[in-house]
Amino acid sequence: MSRVYNFSAGPAVLPEPVLKEVAEEMMDYNGTGMSVMEMSHRSAAFQQIIDEAEQDLRDLMNIPDNYKVLFLQGGASQQFAMIPMNLMKNKVADYIVTGQWAKKAYQEAQKYGKANKIASSEDKTFSYIPDCSDLPISPDADYVYICENNTIYGTKFKELPNTKGKLLVSDVSSCFLSEPVDVSRYGIIYGGVQKNIGPAGMVIVIIREDLITEDVLPGTPTMLTYKTHADAGSLYNTPNAYCIYVCGKVFKWLKAMGGLEEMKRRNEEKAKILYDFLDSSSLFKGTVVAKDRSLMNVPFVTGDKELDAKFVKEATAAGLVNLKGHRTVGGMRASIYNAMPREGVEALVAFMKKFEEENA
Ligand SMILES: *Cc1c(COP(=O)(O)O)cnc(C)c1O
Repeated sequence: MSRVYNFSAGPAVLPEPVLKEVAEEMMDYNGTGMSVMEMSHRSAAFQQIIDEAEQDLRDLMNIPDNYKVLFLQGGASQQFAMIPMNLMKNKVADYIVTGQWAKKAYQEAQKYGKANKIASSEDKTFSYIPDCSDLPISPDADYVYICENNTIYGTKFKELPNTKGKLLVSDVSSCFLSEPVDVSRYGIIYGGVQKNIGPAGMVIVIIREDLITEDVLPGTPTMLTYKTHADAGSLYNTPNAYCIYVCGKVFKWLKAMGGLEEMKRRNEEKAKILYDFLDSSSLFKGTVVAKDRSLMNVPFVTGDKELDAKFVKEATAAGLVNLKGHRTVGGMRASIYNAMPREGVEALVAFMKKFEEENA
């Protein structure tokens, strides 16, 4: 067996102890004589898996009692429609567009009402987070929407926007569980799990209870109504049971590691190793404004497309894989999620130093 350091933006690296545990339980989960993949979602064994997963997530994030946790399918992208369908009572919402995912959410919302772009960083290829301390929030806005960590561009909101009392909805797909958050500041906080938590195929939606109503836009499908899933404990239809099981293992791994304070400390330490090198390098440079840098996704370039391609090729051969930047940005991107060990980042920086010397 030979494992690589996988810097993919998602689906992404998972903690090795979790992979080993699920491998051990593949043929016989906890004396049931079957894999969780083969198990009824109505069984007692699975009910325990989903209940524990929810409780562990609640413990990790300190989720207040007046918030529901939903395990849904359709990815983060389906939430781009589900959010306006469920929340746009006045048919008005304000969007802060800091990257492609926020832009897609903004465009999707236009199908359901008046979506206003109240701030954007598109003028500089989304390389910064705009000042959101005094934005023209619409008086009748049903919510204000952000993408908190911009996976493609490598920026992160270090401060939440001043929503002037309006509900905040946040896509945290690529920074989920990377550091502590105050859930009570959000109406909805959600993310696809395939970036920083588990395997692809699920989105976790943490939603304040009073936002779960039958009063949704006319024509909203049953499956796209939060109430359907909230009333059924995420078991209205067959959920992605195996994904819930693996995510539950990751929650236990995070708790054992010391929780989100400790993850924040580790993530800051890992990111610093890479950013410090980028700031001192004569060949590589980071692409975003320093104060808005993400701890999770680190894009960088040499400034020469051919050299970028050579770097990606040679890094791959050295066991440092999936470093190619997003097709819309070019260059490189290292995603250094919770499950990426510090040694992986150190190996990357050592390789970059060597490449810099060889290509000076
Ligand atoms: C990957 C990503 C998405 C899209 O996720 P899907 O699960 O593929 O729909 C949305 N938002 C952010 C921030 C992402 O990183």
